[in-house]
Parts: sequence; structure tokens; C-alpha cells
Amino acid sequence: MAVLVTGGAGYIGSHTVAALLERKEDVVIVDNMMQGHRDAVLGGTVCVGDLRDRSWLESIIENHGITEVIHFAASSLVGESMQDPGKYYDNNVYGTLCLLEAMRHQGVNRIVFSSTAATYGEPEQVPISETDSTLPTNTYGETKLAMEQMMRWFDSAYGMKYVSLRYFNAAGALPDGRIGEDHSPETHLIPLILQVPLGKRDHISIFGDDYPTTDGTCIRDYIHVCDLADAHILALEKLRQGGESSIYNLGSGNGFSVKEVIDVCRKVTGHAIPAIVQPRRAGDPAVLIASSARVQSELGWSPKRDSLEAIVGDAWRWHLANPNGYRQ
Ligand code: UDP
Repeated sequence: MAVLVTGGAGYIGSHTVAALLERKEDVVIVDNMMQGHRDAVLGGTVCVGDLRDRSWLESIIENHGITEVIHFAASSLVGESMQDPGKYYDNNVYGTLCLLEAMRHQGVNRIVFSSTAATYGEPEQVPISETDSTLPTNTYGETKLAMEQMMRWFDSAYGMKYVSLRYFNAAGALPDGRIGEDHSPETHLIPLILQVPLGKRDHISIFGDDYPTTDGTCIRDYIHVCDLADAHILALEKLRQGGESSIYNLGSGNGFSVKEVIDVCRKVTGHAIPAIVQPRRAGDPAVLIASSARVQSELGWSPKRDSLEAIVGDAWRWHLANPNGYRQ
């Protein structure tokens, strides 16, 4: 009995692998290492390869006695997805099709899926709940929605059960500092802000201060990556106990503006962090906040690390110790 973690060398995948190892689970990681890092994987068996290589993938599932899958492997840059949609359909949608077919052939019928708030698009209400309409405004969100829908039809046809977790803004790092966030290129707000006190950039850009929010900057729901990891474990347990397929939002229910996030980073790092207002970034909704009521009532999940200072503090510890990211 082993859990296959696709994309387990990536940011959220590696933190989930750490949580699985903590529970003494048998873990097999599949990652093509395009964005993943070997040093991010704290244990388990690492298999380097691509989901789209179906016969290879089936042999991994068969040879390692895989009983469940947690699926992170995907391209996840919104801007890139708009410029190169084919890459996203190929890697995300076709990659997931290969995974589901390999699972079906090997008799594996439980999967926890890494989804995103980008499946909703412009929110129809705030906080966003799982029953709200899904109208993605970018190719990335559209492909994640297509992956969820594929799972729904595999459940209906073959009884393959899935839990899809729609994350809001993942941030932070393992509190003991062993692993953290290292994207190339980096596009996320908190790691970009922390590059200023690290001396890697001289200011942070604020993408728009004319939104209909209290200070004019966009509001997001930041959630500690270790809280996300915990939710994957609870979802896995639900499936192991014979639970039905479901979709859950994962957020804190609290929103912070870009300016508030910069202020928290100033406080945590003790650096002035100059900020310059720039034009809006295309496709950014003004406010994204999750209602996590469903996951709280059904899985008993709620964020344990919900102070933004603690989230930024963990991120800062990792970046200070690893200013150039992972070695490999
Ligand atoms: N943002 C910003 N400057 C940056 C990067 C991001 O003002 O250099 C803003 C962005 O417009 C959004 C928020 O910070 O409102 C969070 O962006 P991020 O890319 O981290 O996550 P997203 O909400 O797009 O998933």
C-alpha cells in the first residue's frame, strides 16, 4: 500500500509529501523535474518522468503497489497559460487523462486533486462557495476545471472517487525551515516582496491601487502551505473510509490587501521595502476570499496557522536560509 504523489517535488506537493512522511505513509513521488526540485523531497521513492508517458506511469503504479494518488503535477502560471494554451491542455489535461487511464487499468480508484480558486473566475459573491458558478478567466483555471470534470465522469463510469481541493493563495514554508517556495520565474506576491529585503530587487510593484477595496489594492485569502498539506491528508482519509467524491475550497476566510501584505512583510523582515504602484495586471479580480464552511463541516479542517505574520515569518526563514532557492 503506497501513495503516489504526482508533482511531489513542487511547492505544495513537497509539503504534502512531508506531511505524509510524518505519518509514516509509504510515498512514491513522480515528477518530471521541469519545475520541481530534488532537494524539496524529504523522503519516499522519487521517480523522474512524465505522466504523459503512460506505459512508464502504469509500471510505476504496478511495481510500487500504489493504492491512492495525490495529483499536483501541472503547469500553473496564469500568464504563460494565456500565451501558450496548448502547453496547458497538453501537460494538464492530457497528463491527467493519462494518469486516470493508468489508474483505471491498475485498479486504483482514489485520487485527491490539487485544484484552484481560478476555476471560479470573477466571483459572483464573496466569500466564494463551492456551489458558485465556475467561469474561468484564464487557460490555467480552465484546464484545472477540465481536469475536475474528467474525474467526475471517471467516477460516474468507473466509480473512481476523487476529492478536489480548490486552493486560494498558498504561502509560507515548513516551520522548521527544511523546505519552502522556489518558483522560476517567481510570480507570487509574498516571495517577490521578500526578494527586496534579500537584496534581489529594489522594490515591489503593486499591480493597481484603483480597485473597489478599502485601500484600492487587490484582496486575497492567504493560506499556509502546511494547512493545505493537512487538508490533503484528511481528503485521503475520507476516500480510504469509502467517502463520496467531493469538491472543497481551502482558504482562511480572511482577506488581506496587497498593501497589507507588504506591511506585514516590512514588520517581519524589519526592512522598509519600497513599493511602486503600477497598472493593474490583466485578469486580476478585486477580491478573492474562500468560504471553507463545507470542508470545515465535512472534514473538520480549518487553518491552524492563520496569522499572516506567522505565514510570512515561515516564508522569510526559508528565503533567508536559501536566498537562491534549492541547490537542485
Ligand atoms: N501582485 C502585486 N505585485 C506583484 C505580484 C502580485 O501587486 O509583484 C498582486 C496581484 O495583482 C494579486 C495579488 O498580488 O492581486 C496576489 O497575486 P499572486 O500572483 O501572488 O496570486 P494570485 O492571486 O494571482 O493567485
